[in-house]
This record gives sequence, C-alpha cells and structure tokens, in this order.
Amino acid sequence: MSTATVAGVTVDTRHWIGGQRVASAETFDSVSPIDGTVIAQVSRGGRAEADAAVAAAKAAFPAWAKLSPQERGAILHKVADNIEAHIEELAQLETHDNGSLLRSHRRGVMPRVVMNIRYFADYAMNDLKHPEFETRGHTNHVTWDPSGVAVIITPWNAPLMLATWRIGPALASGDTVVLKPPEWAPLTASYFAQLAHEAGLPAGVFNVVQGFGVEAGAPLTENPDVSRICFTGSVPTAKVVARAAAENLIPCSFELGGKSPTVILDDADLDLAVELAIEQYDNAGQVCLAGTRLLVQKGIAEAFAAKFAERAAQIKQGDPRDEETQIGPNIHLKHVERVTGFIDRAKADGATIAYGGEVNTALGTHYIKPTLVIDAPVGSEILTQEVFGPVLTMQTFDTDEEGLALANGTEFGLAACVVSGNRERAEAFTKFLVAGTIWVNCFFVRDLSAPFGGSKRSGIGREGGLWSFDFYADVKNTVFAPNGWK
Ligand code: NAD
Repeated sequence: MSTATVAGVTVDTRHWIGGQRVASAETFDSVSPIDGTVIAQVSRGGRAEADAAVAAAKAAFPAWAKLSPQERGAILHKVADNIEAHIEELAQLETHDNGSLLRSHRRGVMPRVVMNIRYFADYAMNDLKHPEFETRGHTNHVTWDPSGVAVIITPWNAPLMLATWRIGPALASGDTVVLKPPEWAPLTASYFAQLAHEAGLPAGVFNVVQGFGVEAGAPLTENPDVSRICFTGSVPTAKVVARAAAENLIPCSFELGGKSPTVILDDADLDLAVELAIEQYDNAGQVCLAGTRLLVQKGIAEAFAAKFAERAAQIKQGDPRDEETQIGPNIHLKHVERVTGFIDRAKADGATIAYGGEVNTALGTHYIKPTLVIDAPVGSEILTQEVFGPVLTMQTFDTDEEGLALANGTEFGLAACVVSGNRERAEAFTKFLVAGTIWVNCFFVRDLSAPFGGSKRSGIGREGGLWSFDFYADVKNTVFAPNGWK
C-alpha cells in the first residue's frame, strides 16, 4: 500500500526524494495510540533511500542556494499558506498518529507550524544582516551563506512542529533538507511534503526518508555530503549521532531530553503554583520541557500538596479527539511499558505513589493515569532520569539555596519553572539556575526569536531567531581593503 486514509485524509506513505514518491520493498505499521489500530503502512527506508535523498538534496542545492532570500521567501510563504489551508487535515493526521490532543493541534500546534515557515522566511528577507564595521580603514562585511544539505531527525511527541522549527530556517538559509521523521508518528511529514510540492517548492529542495532510526537515520548521519545535522531526541541516540557526525566533522545541533524542575517558593501564589504544576502533565507528560520535578518549599508544602491532589483528581483523561479531554494516551505500548517500568522501580526503591501509577484500563492500553511520586530516596532513578510520561515527583526543601541545589541536581538543563511572589527573589533564584529556558510564574511561553536549547546533557547549541541562521548557514566575513580600487 502506498497511501493511507486516516480520518478522511489521504496521505502517500512512501518516501519523498527528488520530487518523486519512492517506495521501499518493505513497510512498517503506524499504530494509532488512540485505540491501538494500524492506520498506515509506511515505506521502510534504509541506506539506499538515505543516500538517494542526500544525493537529490545535493543536486538541488546550487539552484536553491543561488536564489535571493526574497525569491526563496516568496516560495516559502506559498508553502506556509498551503499548510494554513490544510490545518484541519494536518491536525487530524497528527492526532491519530501520535495521540496528542486534536484541539491543541488545531488551535496551537499547526498554526505554529505555519509560523515556523513564515517567521524564518521573513527573518532571512529582512533581518539577516550585520552592520559593516571598520578595522584600520578596512571594511568587514558579514554574510550568512547557504551551507549545503541539512539532515533533520525528529521525535514523535510533536513531529511536525519540531520538524518545521528546523525546516523553516534551513530552507530560508538556502540549505536543502532531508527529513527523517519518527517511526512512531511518520504521517504528517509525508503530508507536509505534498503540501510543499503543491506550493511550488522545487524538486529535491525538501526530501523525506521514512523508517527506523538505525536503518534510515544512521546512514544520513554518516553521509559526508551532509553539511548540518539537527537532531531532536534522546541523549543515548544523540551520542550515536555525534559519533557518526564526528567522522566527517559535521556540525550538529542537539535538542535532547530533560528532567526540569518546577520550583515553588514559599511566597508563591498557591493557585497559580498548582495550575503551573498541573500543566506539566500536558501531552501525557511527553514534553521535553516538562517540569516534572515539583520542588516545594517546606512552609507551603502541605497546603500545596492538598490543593494539587484535589486539582489533579479533576483532570479529564480520554480520547484526544474529544474537546473536553485534557490528557490523552501515551504514544506506543513499548513506551507505556517503559513509563510503568519507571513507576514500578520507584516503588521498589521505596517511593510512594500518591495517586495514579497505573494504566487507565477503562480507556484502553495506552492511557497511563496522571501520577505523582512522593518520598523517593535521594538520588533514585525516578528523581534523576527522564520518564517522558505523565509522572511527576514531589520533593521539599528548606532554604532557597537548598532548592537551587535540588533544581540543578541532575545531568539535564533544558528548562525550569519558578513560582514566587517576589520579583527580586525570583531573579536571584534564576541567576544560578542552569537551564536553556526559565519561566517565572508562567510556563511554555515561547517566541520564535528567543534562543532555545539545552544546557548540560539537554543539548548542544541554541536555535531560534538569529541563532538558527548561525547554525544552518555558513557565517562569512569578507574584508575589503580601502585601496586598490580602479
Ligand atoms: P529517540 O532518540 O529514540 O529518537 C529520535 C529520532 O532519532 C527518531 O526519528 C529515531 O528514528 C531517530 N534515531 C534513532 N536512532 C538513530 C540513529 N542511530 N541514527 C540516527 N537517527 C536515529 O527519541 P524519541 O523517543 O523519539 O523522543 C523522545 C526524546 O526526545 C526525549 O528524550 C525528549 O526529551 C526528546 N525531545 C527533545 C526536545 C527538545 O527540543 N529538546 C523536543 C522533543 C523531544
């Protein structure tokens, strides 16, 4: 089968290479986390398809790179317009494929996908410049040149949003792209290829290789014709990608996992603190930025815990297509096993499950109940490793210094949320927090012009605004002498 029809949307499930649909001999199943049914059979790529995609992107590069930012921008705006016209189809596909909420896809995620293309196209057209400056009468002229073929590898928790957040700046830079989407949620990438093609994106400028990481992803990272690798995923996979990239010294951007803290200081507005803590269950906890470690100052810990438990009991878990649902399923049975394995080991380590801690079997096999783990021993796995499910932990602390030490006490440094009623105290606290993004009295406010990335094991590099172009483009300085002109 080379197509699938999901919720009335027909998508071609073959690779997209050099402006053609290309099939592999084998396919793999895409299973919907909503009810465990197979919704598509997708081409299972390997080295041959990966090499063909890089070759197609390399062949398309000179013509795409030669266009001015305005010419590229005009095409990218048409791509964005076509995505905007198909938000409903993309939302349906993504929800059926990865189980995230349909209303979030319709109103938040897919409009943001459109912005990912428009914003970076506009940035390249209007803002990608640096004032010329003098060195002993010589003039320095800085430019951002296209670098070549960018390989983009993405995870399943927000597939199209995370892909276009890189496709946008890569294409706007003048690079051509090969995307390897996640095998657990591959469909929107294929649909995006179709929409971009219809909008006039030239053949070979954007390519999709479907398949498993070790089969389709690894050969992309080993190809010497690649100029950039952008990888979003887990720390163990990033280490494999980094080793492959090192062989050809290909620059990498890594956006990886987290174990972020939500720090609640004792002068916090309790209602706000509870709402921000509850938000950490969003997308069934499958959010890299989630502040899954609730760190609560002792003076308010009891009051917070009582209110939080009351509020958590009201969370409506169910079918992600239902407007009322607040938490849907987890992505895959293997992932459900991984998350429940963490919960079981936490219990074995001596922690207490305050609520949740099991699959909500009334809903099916993929729906892990929102869970809170308390009294976990210091240093135990549940307090230090990324679970990537609806599992929060709660710890308490006495002084701000202790809170800070706890907050910084993992190998990750992706994000942090701090809740406090005092601006100066909050500022003092954030000053020594190690994280790429910190929210104070808010969560998940993200601007495309802001730097985004992780500290420590949570990543290498920053993207967003100019930071994106600094990665995808070759930044060049040309020095003009004052003399020698005829
Ligand atoms: P993963 O590392 O298992 O897979 C990510 C991607 O890499 C997939 O497309 C996979 O097929 C591919 N891959 C696997 N092995 C590969 C190899 N050897 N060579 C090349 N590619 C390979 O991660 P996942 O389980 O899909 O995603 C969850 C992880 O992603 C979590 O750790 C989460 O925190 C992280 N994440 C980070 C961000 C961020 O912006 N920092 C955003 C979302 C998710």
